[in-house]
Amino acid sequence: MYEKRCVYCGKVITKLSKEHVIQNALGGKYESEDICCGECNNYVSKYIDKNFTEIFNPIIAEIKNLYKTNNKKSNPIYTGNIEYKGKIYKAKFKAGRVVSCSELSKKYKCDIKKLNVSILSKNFELENEAFKNGLCKIAFNFAIDKGISSDNLKKGLNIDKEGEKIKKISFNYPVVPFMPLNEVDNYIELKTSMILYHNLILFSYSNILCCYIDLFNTFQYYVILSQDFYSKKDIYESYIQFVQNRDRKMPEISISSRSDILIYADQYNIEPTMDLDELKKRIKISIEKESIVKNMVDIISEKIQGYANYCIDNRVLSADKIESIQMYFDEDDRLIEDNFRKFTIYKDDKGNTKTVFYPEQIARIIDGKKTNEKITKYCHQKMYRLENFNKENI
Ligand SMILES: [Zn+2]
Repeated sequence: MYEKRCVYCGKVITKLSKEHVIQNALGGKYESEDICCGECNNYVSKYIDKNFTEIFNPIIAEIKNLYKTNNKKSNPIYTGNIEYKGKIYKAKFKAGRVVSCSELSKKYKCDIKKLNVSILSKNFELENEAFKNGLCKIAFNFAIDKGISSDNLKKGLNIDKEGEKIKKISFNYPVVPFMPLNEVDNYIELKTSMILYHNLILFSYSNILCCYIDLFNTFQYYVILSQDFYSKKDIYESYIQFVQNRDRKMPEISISSRSDILIYADQYNIEPTMDLDELKKRIKISIEKESIVKNMVDIISEKIQGYANYCIDNRVLSADKIESIQMYFDEDDRLIEDNFRKFTIYKDDKGNTKTVFYPEQIARIIDGKKTNEKITKYCHQKMYRLENFNKENI
């Protein structure tokens, strides 16, 4: 019989262990039993996932109905800065409120909640090791679950062993932040209404294996898993899930004409019936069955519906736009999956349009620098959208 080996310690997996590809604390639903043994699974969650997900605590605290398999209703604690009487202090927060500030409590010898402090900022550290490790873990897991051999991914995986015992696991793949380089992507990311989702795309191009990661439809990165990858066929795998539990409450059903029945049937994807009790029953079943895991082509195609009209209405249907629409969408306005986030359009000095590899083109623009004005601006725009979304959905 075929033996499954743990990708970290190499031992034969005797007892299957479910590993979350996207961390459970972030609302990740995707689990895989093909990755590691229970011991290494514990290790990864303790040293990689915990530090990674803590970075997102200020965001998690504000998302209504975050999906979690182990349904702890805990509010995570996070840190930030507050101001009191003209001075700035470090403080701890929970669900948007200050819960403690040791310096202030010591100074005034009272409960911090009694002081009229103002919140200045919440700490949100994206450029550190913990962030990179967690991001790379998602990419690594997704690739393993999609059947990529760990031999191909060895270069960025570091395992420190002391004898047989694992001391430290860390990842060191190159990470490139995403920003839209064409009109269609710009429209999808900044002009369509916000849907809170996690999206993963694994693809190969030439000898590169890359994973695109989008968390909370806000934090978007490419992880370059291999630069000497060889495969007989091109790889393109996608995963998309909503982050919030669906509201499973039964809607108020009001039928005033036959067409209402058809509207409900269409909305819940059920067979129409004149029997009102039966209709309600079918709607209930349909709601219960609805999964938060979706098809990427459906979600993105829906976002682009009306884009051509938007351009005509705004009198901005240029040749560039037509080219990027043709690159990503077929005649029925359905997403051409294999190109999405993999290729973009680039216009050279002579005005010739070329199709280029997306992460490579962004890397060229960044040119090895740590920060780039355009990327910073784009990240701020995405953050602003997420914050507004959460405010509107309280
Ligand atoms: Zn192991």
